[in-house]
Amino acid sequence: MRVLVVEDEARMARLIKRGLEEEGHAVDVASDGPDGLWMATENGYAAIVLDLMLPGFDGVELCRRLRTRGLWVPVLMLTARDAVGDRVRGLDAGADDYLVKPFSLLELAARLRALARRDDRARPAVLAAGDLSLDPATKQAWRGRAELQLSPKEFSLLEFFLRHPGTVLTRSQIVEAVWDFAYDASSNVVDQYVAYLRRKVDVPYGRHDIETVRGMGYRLRQPEPA
Ligand code: CA
Repeated sequence: MRVLVVEDEARMARLIKRGLEEEGHAVDVASDGPDGLWMATENGYAAIVLDLMLPGFDGVELCRRLRTRGLWVPVLMLTARDAVGDRVRGLDAGADDYLVKPFSLLELAARLRALARRDDRARPAVLAAGDLSLDPATKQAWRGRAELQLSPKEFSLLEFFLRHPGTVLTRSQIVEAVWDFAYDASSNVVDQYVAYLRRKVDVPYGRHDIETVRGMGYRLRQPEPA
């Protein structure tokens, strides 16, 4: 298969290229973020091996930009440190797997084969209602073209609304979906978080899409068909 390796350390890039070529793959190398993004966008690769630390912009940013453009080529991220934070950032940005340096070329080849086999799996679709949209894979949300900066809980709450537009959601339904343990039903955590979310999603845009349904709960306004 055709593989793109994005790695700025020339020696490491050569090593990976040679190892994968010995496995019968055709390998291209890019040595910084912008080059990697350009090559990945222009050519159809079966998989990308992506170093985390890169000049220009890093592997996490590169991966995020690929996913934002709807490119779902499998990405194996290389991280220099065994830091949970790096791995989480990579996976959140849409990487499919990661490998911590130093690694063996045999393991790299095996992971790539596994990723290529998995490539036909369904990707989560982008959810949308009106000009609100959210991508569960890249953890991004937008009002029109403006990206919203949401906390993880706010993101989950918006995702739940976008999965049920036009439907009244009770506080207990929301608690069950967004908080993974049972909150006291009398707790006002839902009201608090709906208020936070409105401040980011509605208020700055002069909108009232997250409606209060008195005595029942909340509803995301279903936009009029164009
Ligand atoms: Ca590097």
